[in-house]
Amino acid sequence: MKLALVVPCYNEEEVLEDTTKQLCKLFDKLLEKGKIDEDSYILFVNDGSKDQTWNLISKFNEQEKWVAGLNLAANVGHQNALYAGLMSSYKNVDATISIDADLQDDINVIENMIDEFNKGNDIVYGVRNDRTSDSFFKRFTAQRLMSARAVEQLGHYKERNLFLRGMVPLIGYKTSCVYYARKERMAGESKYPLKKMLSFAFDGITSFSIKPITMISWVVFLAIVFSVCAMIYTFIGHFVGNTVSGWSSLMISIWFLGGVQLLSIGVIGQYIGKTYVEVKERPRYNIDVLLESKSVGKEND
Ligand code: UDP
Ligand code: MG
Repeated sequence: MKLALVVPCYNEEEVLEDTTKQLCKLFDKLLEKGKIDEDSYILFVNDGSKDQTWNLISKFNEQEKWVAGLNLAANVGHQNALYAGLMSSYKNVDATISIDADLQDDINVIENMIDEFNKGNDIVYGVRNDRTSDSFFKRFTAQRLMSARAVEQLGHYKERNLFLRGMVPLIGYKTSCVYYARKERMAGESKYPLKKMLSFAFDGITSFSIKPITMISWVVFLAIVFSVCAMIYTFIGHFVGNTVSGWSSLMISIWFLGGVQLLSIGVIGQYIGKTYVEVKERPRYNIDVLLESKSVGKEND
């Protein structure tokens, strides 16, 4: 089985050496066990890092036979960098596996993923069974295997707002799971601060669901119920003789309906914003350099 391991890297100079060592060792072991072919490779995708990441990748490409590198022209974010790596590798391999550069995800499950692939699964999810070292928003970045044809299929989803976790299940091929425990980052800082995670979560919701619009409908429904009650209350008040109560119910209605309207405009605005980005059809990334690994070069001689 020919494997491409895709590793997006953004300012990862602190972990890259250790990561490369561990991954190369793993590849040696997998080759020995006959799990992967000799022309498999590790593709480091440099996502416009501002530190020495690309220099290190080029260096490891020289030193280690397994290492390949892809340098993106600018920082495009984890999802787009991963997408770039998948799209530029799937054509010459049987399957791709994606993993973060900090190796927080257990690399030993890669072997189990390959076994699942050999059983005929096109997509294998790495699922964390122990999520204690993660905050709620971080639970949904996981490693995953995708067969070449699954990646090809993914390329047919033309949207710009990438939310791979939501898109991959849409592909529909046979899937399976492997379980592992996630560790703390070995060095460096998380490239996903809470602010980025929140906007990612919001992206996920608005790209995949029209629930916010449905929710607005419920709020409007409640507003109508509320207004009807207020009307009955005022009406009864009128006959009982308590006619000064009109001011408060009027103010409540104005504020409440005004709020509902503003909220609705806000949500609709989000969808219009997405439409705006989609119709521009900008390229997701521009490739600067593609370094081929020695393991691939050898095959060509
Ligand atoms: N990453 C990237 N581009 C970015 C941000 C992050 O390619 O703009 C990479 C990063 O190098 C790492 C992976 O995405 O390999 C996940 O990032 P990180 O480990 O910082 O996220 P966390 O594990 O904290 O969610
Ligand atoms: Mg991480």
